[in-house]
Amino acid sequence: MKIICPHCEAINSVPKKETYKKANCGKCKNSLLQNKILTANSDNIDRILKNSDIPVIIDFWAPWCGPCKMFAPIFGAVAMEFPLKALFVKINTQDEQFLASRFKIRSIPTLVVFKNQEEIHRVSGAMDENSFINFVNKFV
Ligand SMILES: [Zn+2]
Repeated sequence: MKIICPHCEAINSVPKKETYKKANCGKCKNSLLQNKILTANSDNIDRILKNSDIPVIIDFWAPWCGPCKMFAPIFGAVAMEFPLKALFVKINTQDEQFLASRFKIRSIPTLVVFKNQEEIHRVSGAMDENSFINFVNKFV
């Protein structure tokens, strides 16, 4: 399966397995088992969506939004639990207004899940950690 390295955004080809002992990025050599949040913008979003065979979960947020700030550490912590299972991406709607309108974001935070370049789910409003783990588990 195709995986975007969360460290350097290189496209990696990784065999699909239930569990992994070791998997490193072919380009930056960082471990793909150590997940990291990617920041997307108009330049990289299509490449990310096109080259991810795992679900891509995008957090649309803005710096002035209180609930977004409260949700940020939860998004970060839960992302660490799903290496090679889901790619976690943040889009700052204040900087990326074109993307906010392209993806029809009406309120923030909004979480949108993509699989095979198609939007398969979206939800608005922040979640607590357990709810977000359950949410992610529905798609991985
Ligand atoms: Zn890499």
